[in-house]
Amino acid sequence: MGAPGVGKGTQARAISLKYGIPTISTGDMLRSAMESQTPIGCEAKKFVERGDLVPDHVIIGVVEERLTCQDAVGGFLLDGFPRTLAQAEALDMLLRDKGLALDAAVAIEVPDQVIVDRLGGRLTCGSCGMVYGADSGLNEGDSCGNCGEPLAIRSDDTPDAIRHRLAVYRKSTEPLVDYYRGKGILKIIDGDRSRDAVAASIEAALSG
Ligand code: AMP
Repeated sequence: MGAPGVGKGTQARAISLKYGIPTISTGDMLRSAMESQTPIGCEAKKFVERGDLVPDHVIIGVVEERLTCQDAVGGFLLDGFPRTLAQAEALDMLLRDKGLALDAAVAIEVPDQVIVDRLGGRLTCGSCGMVYGADSGLNEGDSCGNCGEPLAIRSDDTPDAIRHRLAVYRKSTEPLVDYYRGKGILKIIDGDRSRDAVAASIEAALSG
């Protein structure tokens, strides 16, 4: 969990590699559905571009289907889901039906001003999801260092959408921090440090 721009996607990639489990990123899944203009992609587009949350029933259906895939049998990491209390409760039910439970909920915290600075000018690879900060020296259209596809500015990384996404996070998603604290699985991580320092803290929290 974490507001937009705290580094969820970047850290998720590292954890996935370390534990050999897939990252299930609802944001990436929606962007790919939007690109392919699937029915879910077309339904989600207006919400995503405004920085609003896609309705719970849509996103819960997407996650439910994804969790049935073979690669999720040995464990998985959720990035950007759940984002509302209804989603968290639906996830609990989904997992209960499968005889599973979450091992940990990691909340990455970064001050708002740092987030706004980070998101302005970041470039994202629409193909593999790799994110490049404003200090990368790369421009829109340059090739992704990971997969070679062209980099772009996300359509919801505009100043208005960023402000709105932050407000949506505080209102709808931040209450989940208490939800997972109550379940005794919450790990709070200071995300206002280098990528490697944050990764080391997450690793320590997950193995502790
Ligand atoms: P992200 O890549 O996680 O920042 O997600 C990008 C956008 O996709 C969000 O601003 C929402 O519009 C939408 N989205 C992603 N995950 C969810 C979710 N769990 N619930 C509702 N909307 C979501």
